[in-house]
Amino acid sequence: MSVTKNDTAVLKNFINGEWVISASGQTLDVPNPATNELLIKVPVSSKEDVNLAVAAAKESFRTWKNVPVPKRARVFYKYHHLLTENHEELARLIVQENGKAYKEAYGEVQRGIECVEFACGAPTLMMGETLSGIAEDIDSEMFRYPLGVVGGITPFNFPMMVPLWMFPLAIACGNTFVLKPSERTPILANRLAELFAEAGAPKGVLNVVHGAHDVVNGLIEHKDVAAISFVGSQPVAKYVYERAAREGKRVQALSGAKNHHIVMPDADIEKAVQHVMSATFGSAGQRCMACSAVVVVGDNEAFVAALKREADKLNIGSGMDEEVLLTPVIRKEHRDKALGYIEKGLEEGAELIRDGRKEMSDLPKGNFLGPTIFDHVTPEMTIAKDEIFAPVLSLLRAQNLDEGLDFIRRSRYGNGATIYTNNAKAIRKFREEAEAGMLGINVGVPATMAFFPFSGWKDSFYGDLHVNGKDGLNFYTRKKMITSRFDA
Ligand code: NAD
Repeated sequence: MSVTKNDTAVLKNFINGEWVISASGQTLDVPNPATNELLIKVPVSSKEDVNLAVAAAKESFRTWKNVPVPKRARVFYKYHHLLTENHEELARLIVQENGKAYKEAYGEVQRGIECVEFACGAPTLMMGETLSGIAEDIDSEMFRYPLGVVGGITPFNFPMMVPLWMFPLAIACGNTFVLKPSERTPILANRLAELFAEAGAPKGVLNVVHGAHDVVNGLIEHKDVAAISFVGSQPVAKYVYERAAREGKRVQALSGAKNHHIVMPDADIEKAVQHVMSATFGSAGQRCMACSAVVVVGDNEAFVAALKREADKLNIGSGMDEEVLLTPVIRKEHRDKALGYIEKGLEEGAELIRDGRKEMSDLPKGNFLGPTIFDHVTPEMTIAKDEIFAPVLSLLRAQNLDEGLDFIRRSRYGNGATIYTNNAKAIRKFREEAEAGMLGINVGVPATMAFFPFSGWKDSFYGDLHVNGKDGLNFYTRKKMITSRFDA
C-alpha cells in the first residue's frame, strides 16, 4: 500500500521537508482492524530521529515566526482547499487504518477541515489589545507571539481530527511543529503532511516522527520544545503532563472518559434510543465522547426494551460497507481487554442483557465485538468506573435526577454528559450541576466545534488551556506588554 508517493513497505518520517527513513531500523505492523491484513509497517523512531525533527523545526521557526500573519493564513486557505478536494480519499484511509465506518470517517475529515477554517482566521485571532492613557501620556499595548517548537502526540481513534486540533492553529500562530501520531494509525499523518507541503508550507514547519514511547519521551525531554499538546489515555496523559511540566513546558493533556447519558422519565424514547445507540456503538465505542453509561431514571422498562431491540438489529462489519454501524475495535489485544471487562461485570453481579461475544465468530478475521449491554450496574462496579473504549454499555438505575447527577459526580472523569428530557427545570439543574465539561441536552455526542474549546474536566484533562477556540489560541501564543511614555 502506498500512502504518499514516498511511502512503500515502511512509512517514512517527514523531517525538514524530506521523507526520511528512521535511523532505528525497528518497525511495527499496521494491520487493517477489519481483516488483520498488513497495510504497511511503521518505524519505531529513536530519540535521534526526534532530535533531527526538533532541529529542523527550530531552524524554520527563525523565519516562519516573521512571515506576516495574513501570509501564514493563506497557506491554510490552500490547505483547506486540498483537504476538501481529497475528502473522500482521506476518509478511506481512516477506514483502512482505524476501522471506523466510512460515514463516520467522512465526518471526521469534515471536523478536521473545520479546524483548518479556524486557523485561517489567524489575523483576527492574533490581534492584541491596547489602552490609550493608562496614565498621563502613557499607553499600553499587548502583542501576541508564538512560543517556538511545539510537540503534538495523538491517539489512534481520530487520526485526522486530533492532529488537526493541534498543528494548524499552532502553525498559523507562528510556531513550528513536530507531530508524533499514534503508531496504531500512523498512515493518515503522512498524507496530511504531504498535502500541507503542497499547500506551500515551508520545509521544517511541520515534521512527522513516527514511533512510540521513545519519541514521546524525546519530545518531552527536549530543551528546544516549548510546549506539548497531548491526547490519549488517562495514565499516559497524566504522565506526559507531569513530566513535561517538570521540564518547564506548557502542556495540555486531554485524557480518557466515562460519559453518562441520563434518560429522564419524560424523554422521547425513540429519539433517546437512537442517540444512545449511535453514541455508544459508533466507532465501536472508541470515542472520548462515547456514551458508556446510561442512567435510567424511574422504571423506564420501555426504554431498556427498545434499546435492546435496536442493538439486536445492529449491522456489524467492515467500515467500507455503507449499511454498517458497528465496526471492529483497533486491535485483538484491545478486544481481549474488553472481554476481560465483560467477565468482570459478570463477576461483580451486573446483568448481561445483551452479549456481544456471540457475534465474534461471524467475522473471525477482524477485531469485532457485538453490542454488549449490562443492566443494573452500580457505580462501585469496575465496568461503571473504567473507560472500556469498546461497544460495551452499562445501564445504571436511579430514582431521580439527583441520584443520576451523583453518579456523574462520583466518576473520576468529566469529559461529556447528556440528558434526554423536555423538562426545563431538569435541563437547568443538569446544566448547573453535571460535573463534566461538555454537556448535551438531547444531543448524543456533544463534541464541540473548532471555535469552542474541547473542554474536559477532572481526570479527562490535565492543564489549564484546552485545545481549540480561544483556549487553543492562548495555549499556542505568549503575550508581550508594551508600556510607552509620550511626554518627551
Ligand atoms: P494511548 O494513551 O495509548 O496513546 C496516545 C499516544 O501516547 C500515542 O501516540 C502513543 O504512542 C503514546 N503512548 C502510549 N503509551 C505511552 C507511554 N507509556 N509513554 C509515552 N507515550 C505513550 O491512547 P490511545 O489508545 O491511542 O487513544 C485512546 C485514548 O485517548 C482513550 O482513553 C480516549 O478517551 C483518549 N482520547 C481523549 C480525547 C479527549 O479529547 N479527551 C480525544 C481522543 C481520545
